[in-house]
Amino acid sequence: MSEIAANLRAVQERIERAAAKTGRGPCNIRLVAVSKTVPVARIQEAIAAGVTDLGENRVQEAREKAESLGRQVRWHLIGHLQRNKVKYIFPLFDVIHSVDSVALAQEIGQEAEKRGWPGIDLLLQVHMGGEETKSGFEPEGLSSAVEEVARLPRLNVKGLMAIPPYLPDPEEVRPYFRQLRQLAGEIRRREIPGISMEELSMGMSHDFEVAIEEGATLVRVGTAIFGVRQ
Ligand SMILES: *Cc1c(COP(=O)(O)O)cnc(C)c1O
Repeated sequence: MSEIAANLRAVQERIERAAAKTGRGPCNIRLVAVSKTVPVARIQEAIAAGVTDLGENRVQEAREKAESLGRQVRWHLIGHLQRNKVKYIFPLFDVIHSVDSVALAQEIGQEAEKRGWPGIDLLLQVHMGGEETKSGFEPEGLSSAVEEVARLPRLNVKGLMAIPPYLPDPEEVRPYFRQLRQLAGEIRRREIPGISMEELSMGMSHDFEVAIEEGATLVRVGTAIFGVRQ
């Protein structure tokens, strides 16, 4: 078995164990293999080993890779998206995890409309503590942002995404994951048309098990599959 295949197997087993611990089935947890900076040949190995979803943080890099990898996988955009790059997310990405402003959502909706695209799945990124990233809606402002985004055309708001601070002990990250789940629950209870809140994109290589215990449906795992990035 190749190194990547063995890593993938180990990650899948960890997902199953974390899911079992809280009585969840592993089938409603999707593993997004984060392939940023990873060369196509190694990504191909991962696909051969069973990867079905790729996460990229730059539109241009993903488009270049897609020229050889095509649409045998689902493509997830997980990095900050500039408004002037929105036209390049079509027709590649299946899910945009990193919608961090109403203006960006508006741009995506307009572009979808212009292209006659029926709808695009997206997640709203919530800014949670820490300095790792400044992107995202502040939890306090999320509620009104959701109402604005709900009025925009062609957008399927599927849930929330967060990049909590990196803390050496994953247990310390748990409160952030829990907060994201609670925020999604509050929005879901309002039953806003066009807003479903069934997805929680949270958890990376060092903390995805805790994220799963707290309800993650999409985990974004790079290093644990592909090794340390160059
Ligand atoms: C790079 C990245 C990941 C993967 O991080 P690992 O620690 O390598 O698993 C997950 N999410 C986002 C947004 C990233 O940029």
